[in-house]
Amino acid sequence: MRETRIGCHLSLSGGFAGMAKTAVSLEATTFQFFSANPRGGKSREWARADIEEMLRICREHGIGGLVAHAPYILNPCSSDPEKRKLALERMEEDMKRLQAIPGCMYNLHPGCHTGQGTEEGMREVAELLRRLAPYTAANPVLLETMAGKGTELGSRFSELGEILRMADVPGSGVCLDTCHVWDAGYDIQGGLEAVLEAFDREIGLERLLAIHLNDSKNARGSHRDRHEKLGQGEIGLKALLAVTSHPALRGLPFILETPNEAEGYAAEIRLVHEDRPC
Ligand code: FE
Ligand code: FE
Ligand code: ZN
Repeated sequence: MRETRIGCHLSLSGGFAGMAKTAVSLEATTFQFFSANPRGGKSREWARADIEEMLRICREHGIGGLVAHAPYILNPCSSDPEKRKLALERMEEDMKRLQAIPGCMYNLHPGCHTGQGTEEGMREVAELLRRLAPYTAANPVLLETMAGKGTELGSRFSELGEILRMADVPGSGVCLDTCHVWDAGYDIQGGLEAVLEAFDREIGLERLLAIHLNDSKNARGSHRDRHEKLGQGEIGLKALLAVTSHPALRGLPFILETPNEAEGYAAEIRLVHEDRPC
């Protein structure tokens, strides 16, 4: 049985090896980073030596389950064909570069259908997955569960399940964001078992490959998507630790995207480590 991993989102601004060193200092066993500037714009080249050094540090310290997060400005199901094209091109470029980091997953937001409707939006996200298919053997692609802001896709497990079935690409899966599913209306506080059953029914638990561990500033069903520090939001620490210690989720990377600096992340990572019986 693989060990559950806990870590946080880190900035790539200090390079790949820099992120790995930060992860070690936080006692993290996994981490996530933006594959490019989250608000778009040209990203710098990925230096081979820097990546090799990161991989060496990760091996030495048992860090794994890495996740690259796509820039959230990209919208693969926009009603504007130009924006859609840009998203597909950029994400394909990201996947090509990611081949240098074997096993690193690529997490993306399904996007907003911007008025063309859920059905059409889902078809377009499935098309994106098929376009990324040549690269997913080395780097699994994850669709993130979303809060359902505006015309956002992926706030229902059924939508993500249908996209994955339409695309039919092995090596693709889902990243469950605890703040987002709560904001979407799923009661992970009072009914975690029922939520996981729904996930299994609509998507399949074997396709759940990563967790974003966040509390939420807002009430269940708010569709707001505002993350909070663990235990300081509406979901609460007890419910979040029930997620990290759930047997069905054992072995997954849990990644914090809470509003924290290094010290706050280190404290939250410790909190999760200490809750573990062994
Ligand atoms: Fe995200
Ligand atoms: Fe997230
Ligand atoms: Zn979010």
